[in-house]
Amino acid sequence: MEEKERLSEIETKEEASQKHNRKEQEEDKDYEKVCYICRRPESKAGSMVSMPGGIYLCHDCMQKAFDALKQNGMDLGQISNMPFLNLNMGDFSNFLRPDMAIPKKQKIKKKAEEPKVYTIQDIPAPHVIKHRLDEFVVGQEQAKKVMSVAVYNHYKRALLSRPAEGEDDITIEKSNILMVGPTGSGKTYLVKTLAKLLDVPLAIADATSLTEAGYIGDDIESVVSKLLAAAGNDVEKAERGIIFIDEVDKIAKKQQTNARDVSGESVQQELLKLLEGSVVEVPVGSNQKNAMTPMATVNTDNILFICGGAFPELEQIIKERLQKKSSMGFGSQLKDHYEGDQNLLAKVENGDLRKFGMIPEFLGRLPITVALQPLDKEFMKRILTEPKNAILKQYEKLLSYDEVKLEFDDSALDWIAQEAMKKETGARALRAILEDFMLDIMYEIPKDPNIGTVIITRSYLEKRGGPRIEMRNIYPVPVRTSN
Ligand code: ADP
Repeated sequence: MEEKERLSEIETKEEASQKHNRKEQEEDKDYEKVCYICRRPESKAGSMVSMPGGIYLCHDCMQKAFDALKQNGMDLGQISNMPFLNLNMGDFSNFLRPDMAIPKKQKIKKKAEEPKVYTIQDIPAPHVIKHRLDEFVVGQEQAKKVMSVAVYNHYKRALLSRPAEGEDDITIEKSNILMVGPTGSGKTYLVKTLAKLLDVPLAIADATSLTEAGYIGDDIESVVSKLLAAAGNDVEKAERGIIFIDEVDKIAKKQQTNARDVSGESVQQELLKLLEGSVVEVPVGSNQKNAMTPMATVNTDNILFICGGAFPELEQIIKERLQKKSSMGFGSQLKDHYEGDQNLLAKVENGDLRKFGMIPEFLGRLPITVALQPLDKEFMKRILTEPKNAILKQYEKLLSYDEVKLEFDDSALDWIAQEAMKKETGARALRAILEDFMLDIMYEIPKDPNIGTVIITRSYLEKRGGPRIEMRNIYPVPVRTSN
């Protein structure tokens, strides 16, 4: 019996020691040994010979030690610069001397990761991109489709290896995008959603803050600086990102002006190089260039540029062109045929944009034009309720933490959409309107733990009454069973 106990004790000790060794080996993976004599790590000196007392020696030093032994006729005391040979390995106080201390193992410096080689499988197909956009952006079907294809083509061009110069004569041009749509129609939101689902860095810049170099305002390169910051100063990541320049309609050529147009046409001119792809030096971690800020070199060739704007008078220009065309010849139509056409922007042509004040070179570098539909009442209602993170869903979730159900009457939704339309700021108005009356709800409801459901009605929104409240069933009615 005693013998058995003794054996099992030995076994557990052995197991523990094996476990300890395994752990040490595991930890050793991240460290490299350092030669006791020359203090070079394994990565420089090659594999090491291990000695008692946790000492390691590289092959060079080992060889030198043997050579020295031979020359000095095996008198260890005579050998200089080979301290370990004179050590009494049993006397650990030796190791406490600073010149004798055993060097610590060094953490292995990981080799820089190989640049990722992209394949077509890494780029989501247009229908996949569109499908994912559908979850967040309602309507705007044509815009989502055009953008999905443009983005797919852009990343094919940017990420997949291209035939060397001269191998074939086909060069795929950049598919930068121009987005035209009224304020609040979802231009920024569409780009933000796109960048998020593609997992690429995004910089949003305002064209109105840009000026020609040397004038007060931001330099054109500041947009690349922003992107670099969004990519965590990783140049390679930034070079695959998206730059959204909003309000480009504000940099249209000024009509009849004698003064130098430093924030209009000149900005368009200076943007040309960035849009088509060039190498720029940008400050890291700041948008101010000075002698103290480190600079990074960024190639904008693979950066997707999306420019957006409301182009307020563009509809009039399009209408005039269409009317002129249709009033001639046999098929001539009445002059007011296009009056009230909600989808005029979708009929935009390059000539219209030129008439608006965009220079041809600028338009040439934005070969894809996307028009966003203006939002009507039904559209607003859908935006309120349908997207994956719709504003109403967000409020419902907030109240669900108090175990309160939030509901909206259809007539209440109508009222909200109608009020939003009046503000003429597109879907942006929805949040402001909701916040206005939801404040009281969010304040009052948690006061009473018996409230189970709150129904927002039109009369409450019109301030003719309160919301409909349903109490929680605190004492559930026992269910009768017939037997
Ligand atoms: P723009 O850049 O065209 O002025 P935004 O992109 O800033 O407009 O849109 C304002 C807000 O409206 C967005 O934050 C988004 O919540 C909402 N929105 C606009 N259009 C849509 C849409 N089609 N689907 C979902 N939400 C939308």
